[in-house]
Amino acid sequence: MARLLLVSNRLPVTVKVEHGEVHVTRSAGGLATGMKGPHERSGGLWLGYPGDVSRLPPEQRAALEARLEDLRYVPLHLSPGEVSRFYEGFSNGVLWPLFHYLLDQVPIGERDWESYRRVNERFADLVAAHHREGDLIWVHDYQLMLVPGLLRKKIPNARIGFFLHIPFPSAEVFRILPWRTQLLEGLLGADLLGFHTLSYLRHFASSLLHVLGIEANVDRVFTEGREVRLGAFPMGIDAAALSTLAGSPEVDAEAQTFRQPGQRILLGIDRLDYTKGIPRRLLAVERLLEREPSLRGKVRLVQVTVPSRTNVEAYQGFRSRVDELVGRINGAYATVHSVPIHSMYRSFNERQLAALYRAADVMLVTPLRDGMNLVAKEFVASRTDDDGVLVLSEFAGAASELADALLVNPYDIGGVAATLKRALTMPQGERRQRMQNLRQRVLENDVHGWAQSFLSTLEEQSEASSGRSLGATTPAALESLTSDLRKAPRLTLLLDYDGTLVRFARAPDDAAPDPDLRHLLTALARRPGTRVHVVSGRTRDVLERWLGDLPIALAAEHGFWTRDASAREWRPRTDIPSDWNAKFLPLLRQFVARTPGTLLEEKSASLTFHYRMADPEFGVLQAKELRLHLGDLLKNTPVEILPGEKIVEIRPMGAGSSALVTSLLEGASSGTRLVALGDDLLDEEMFAALPPPHIAMHVGPRPSRAPYRLSGPMAARTFLQAIAED
Ligand code: UDP
Repeated sequence: MARLLLVSNRLPVTVKVEHGEVHVTRSAGGLATGMKGPHERSGGLWLGYPGDVSRLPPEQRAALEARLEDLRYVPLHLSPGEVSRFYEGFSNGVLWPLFHYLLDQVPIGERDWESYRRVNERFADLVAAHHREGDLIWVHDYQLMLVPGLLRKKIPNARIGFFLHIPFPSAEVFRILPWRTQLLEGLLGADLLGFHTLSYLRHFASSLLHVLGIEANVDRVFTEGREVRLGAFPMGIDAAALSTLAGSPEVDAEAQTFRQPGQRILLGIDRLDYTKGIPRRLLAVERLLEREPSLRGKVRLVQVTVPSRTNVEAYQGFRSRVDELVGRINGAYATVHSVPIHSMYRSFNERQLAALYRAADVMLVTPLRDGMNLVAKEFVASRTDDDGVLVLSEFAGAASELADALLVNPYDIGGVAATLKRALTMPQGERRQRMQNLRQRVLENDVHGWAQSFLSTLEEQSEASSGRSLGATTPAALESLTSDLRKAPRLTLLLDYDGTLVRFARAPDDAAPDPDLRHLLTALARRPGTRVHVVSGRTRDVLERWLGDLPIALAAEHGFWTRDASAREWRPRTDIPSDWNAKFLPLLRQFVARTPGTLLEEKSASLTFHYRMADPEFGVLQAKELRLHLGDLLKNTPVEILPGEKIVEIRPMGAGSSALVTSLLEGASSGTRLVALGDDLLDEEMFAALPPPHIAMHVGPRPSRAPYRLSGPMAARTFLQAIAED
């Protein structure tokens, strides 16, 4: 097993000083439990913040460091300013509410981003300092979204996984964030990105498309020459351990003491967080009592709220709002013998929680949004008696797994009240059946399986992507290639234009060459023994207008039209009939008419459907549909359909640039080296026609048959500049 470097904002420890001595105890949270096995077995490290230890005197501080080292925990100490800005300000103040769709809780002001970025850099530096070849790095959660990208820059071949423990919101909400680009690019540094549910994964993929224009192939994304895998890994709990604890005679006895004859218990257990839906839950209980007088005095909601994030502004007024509601409802429905809402504001230990779970008739888990919600699963694992009803919000990640719960919309207070009544009156047989199904799911998919499945996917993925060697050619290899090429007596450069020499622009006409590019092409063409061909899918008119005055050869429409450097007139290929497109031109025009933002480029030997300016998702769908229709229409005809970079190109078979490459190879005098640069699927044809010692270079992040790779147009220009400069 590879050594594991775990990275999370908090180390899973609590540091306490008693009688002058430092005690470090491991926390029992879900993540700590899931990671314990892999951490111990792999002999790895866990890096994170141990809590505020700034007030410890030096000798206690040293004792703490030694204890952490024993546990193989590496502390990253945060200053009070960093805690307040990186953690409370940006992570919990901005990302937390936005990712939970609670936009009204996002404060105005941008100051904390800088701190978030800097602390993420500190984490990445610390991980890099401890990293050894072959390690697996697993970064956790929304506080550290930039860490994978920062690490990738420092250690290009590192094996990096990232898991998001909160929801990933819809692209419409995510793109509100002014730092959306940086966050997505940070995440894309990983080899594997894990989410709790498929719908979070889909939201992420859609954000990539809307914000960065990157299209995921279901669960795979190509970027910067690497493949990033996306996966849904619903987190579980230590179900067997909790089940054993909850089934023990002590817990059973404690649960008995919570019950009162003739009274039913509804249970809520949450951190005091505005995402948990506590006020609406209270209103639903109030509604139930209002509608069902017979239940008054017979139903009690035991609500445990655990203090949380008390330094974050949005949490400060929240407690009094909850208390006020509790007071109002109790004021209206309490009797001398009972109160309807029994509210406790503190935390409980695992055994007490197990007893509460066991005592409840109905468990209410009604968050407005929740990444997963482990409380729901803990309730199920505790019910060794196969009894109890789980009422679960459809907006909790757990809802996608726990179909036998009673699912509710927490915003629909009347609906929740009605479901509560249904839960309280559910026949025992149905309760039993549902609970058995729930238990099976929760016991079979526990936190150990979750960690294992993430880690094995990460291992598989990082091996697969390193095998595919999608990384850019190293500077040393590039330098040696450059000096080799400089020595060649004759050099022919075949340069694709869009995406290779210039970045893609939104509209095709916006990609005109800048003066630097024109100088570069001229300098190359003036180099002794060097010929330059710009080979593009564009029309003669455009190439003539942009590059016609330079001493270079031009090939328009992928070589259908060619023009020598010295000659002025364009020559067409003669082997393609002029009516080759008659059969499907009307269909293409129809697609353009019904897809706003698309356009059709009609050329002599190709038709190009452009959808870069269309709504990103609709554009992709329409392009897929167009390809299906065309596929049907063009069966058994010598016409090919080629998907490209936000385009679909249709052209007669053999009309691509390989014919040009073949004719250049045939006409080349001995000692000539051909070098082709291209970024697109269409350029693969040109590469395929180019045997060694000629050179094919892919520009950009996609997989390619070319043995050399440059990261983008800027890198391509630098490479060409080095040839021009000798
Ligand atoms: N919990 C606890 N003590 C308490 C109440 C809750 O340790 O008094 C634990 C609970 O057992 C669960 C976790 O806190 O494991 C809450 O996790 P969940 O996913 O439900 O919500 P989160 O707090 O992560 O938003």
